Amino acid sequence: MAEWDVIIVGAGIAGLTCAEELCSKGLKLLVLESSDSAGGRIATDEYEGFLLDRGFQVFLTAYPEAKRILNYPELKLNRFAPGALIWHDGKFRRFSDPWRKPGDLLATALSPVASAMDKIRIAKFRHDTTTADLRRLYKSPEITTIEMLQQRGFSPTVIERFFRPFLGGIFLEQDLNTSRRMCEFVFRMFSTGDAALPSDGMRAIPNQLASRLPEGVLRLNSPVKAVRAGGVELSSGLQLTAKHIVVATDEPTARKLTGNSPESEANRVVCMYFAADEPPIEEPILMLNGQGLGPINNVCVPSQLAANYAPPGQSLISVTALLKAKQEPQVDAVSSQLREWFGSTVYGWRHLRTYPIHYALPRQVAPALEPVEKSSRLSTGVYRCGDYCDTASINGAMASGRRAAEAVVNDFEELRTAD
Ligand SMILES: Cc1cc2nc3c(=O)[nH]c(=O)nc-3n(C[C@H](O)[C@H](O)[C@H](O)COP(=O)(O)OP(=O)(O)OC[C@H]3O[C@@H](n4cnc5c(N)ncnc54)[C@H](O)[C@@H]3O)c2cc1C
Repeated sequence: MAEWDVIIVGAGIAGLTCAEELCSKGLKLLVLESSDSAGGRIATDEYEGFLLDRGFQVFLTAYPEAKRILNYPELKLNRFAPGALIWHDGKFRRFSDPWRKPGDLLATALSPVASAMDKIRIAKFRHDTTTADLRRLYKSPEITTIEMLQQRGFSPTVIERFFRPFLGGIFLEQDLNTSRRMCEFVFRMFSTGDAALPSDGMRAIPNQLASRLPEGVLRLNSPVKAVRAGGVELSSGLQLTAKHIVVATDEPTARKLTGNSPESEANRVVCMYFAADEPPIEEPILMLNGQGLGPINNVCVPSQLAANYAPPGQSLISVTALLKAKQEPQVDAVSSQLREWFGSTVYGWRHLRTYPIHYALPRQVAPALEPVEKSSRLSTGVYRCGDYCDTASINGAMASGRRAAEAVVNDFEELRTAD
């Protein structure tokens, strides 16, 4: 007789979403997490009164799965100003979203980042991505994002100055080889909602999900070594049994636990944090590298969005650089580029921490071998979820967690009927 109905391995966003769905069905559940906290790739460290997200990331309020499962008011979301400031030819130029911030239309119309035709094409792109059914977008012909932008007729100028740094910062790869399906999904999210940070850091998202689980369901510091139908073995040697096992880890670990080669490609990134007495910019807006030179992809000042990110009288600056395979963080090159952008004031900034993240996002290059929404069932009684099973994002992790829970509940019902 199995001890649990379901054991979930991993308490990232996917595992937590799956757990919440299964708890609501009254199943006896155990979540095993290898680290000392829930949240996986979403984590926030407290350091000298600053909140440092482990890698700069943003929450998109339009995420359909998040709308379903999260309590937004409790997250106390702080929204970015739409659009971005783009560094080009020695100064920042505003590239606003004229459809959602009409006041900036003039500045956008005069911006050298995009031509009038590009703005019309952006409007059409927005129309196409916001009116199509999400499932249809997921089934659009598979080409890379860069091919899709070129096919839509965007000029090399708007691609280099806006799309490459903007989408590169989301996909965490600058070649824009990521599937167009991910691009269309992201564009739809930015067109229909805001980018935001919770007041208490990105950790507030997994914390909210974890706090809803009944006591005793989440077991931390419990790395799983092997998974088989009917049970798991922990690194400690402990064997636990369950009718169903859901593997909710990152892709390489999931492959290893289920007896496959752990090789899978990932996009890598480094995030550096600095403290300053004065913010380099007053606005809660993203600053992008439209020059195509130097290591920096984007800069922002999280404390201009959410005061909690820095102690009183100080500002927190986050700097993100993308890393190619085997490339190491180039701290000196980042500092010198910051001086180019913000001048000698940068000498007064204090480096807080650098986070190199070697597994940030699973690579989702086109053409993909599997559909966007990958199957949850691996074998009888063994399931999977995680951002690699959907669009690589918080929304994708949630969607895959929900689908895995639905598959378990379905099979559980069938088992019960057969008994
Ligand atoms: C720097 C960075 C920037 C990002 N930016 C954004 C963004 O702006 N917007 C967005 O939507 N998404 C962004 N993402 C992606 C998003 O954070 C992830 O898609 C999502 O958090 C993945 O959740 P997951 O549950 O699939 O996987 P994970 O978060 O990796 O969770 C897997 C869990 O399994 C645990 N685990 C692993 N091995 C074992 C084992 N053997 N036994 C037990 N437990 C185990 C891990 O400790 C972890 O808790 C970003 C990610 C990074 C790193």
